[in-house]
Amino acid sequence: MKTCSKCGETKDRDQFYPRPKAKDGLRSDCKLCSAEVARKWQEANPDRHRNNAAKWKAANPEQGDITLRIGADTAIRQDENGEQSLVRWPVSS
Ligand SMILES: [Zn+2]
Repeated sequence: MKTCSKCGETKDRDQFYPRPKAKDGLRSDCKLCSAEVARKWQEANPDRHRNNAAKWKAANPEQGDITLRIGADTAIRQDENGEQSLVRWPVSS
């Protein structure tokens, strides 16, 4: 179990996205809070999101659609089973 830094709720570890650099290997905010951050980013940057999502899909046609972006180089994708996972975002220079 782990407590979310944003909503303060204690949840199972599978309710947190992985973050390789973190001490416990997980993000400090839960999946719901991560998604909220991503949604706000997309709302604030609709054009950038569209461009990046299209670019990512073109480069990774087998990996499904990006659903949410949650950081400079991280996004959530959802596969055909509805399973969500974290992907590295191709940072364009
Ligand atoms: Zn939370």
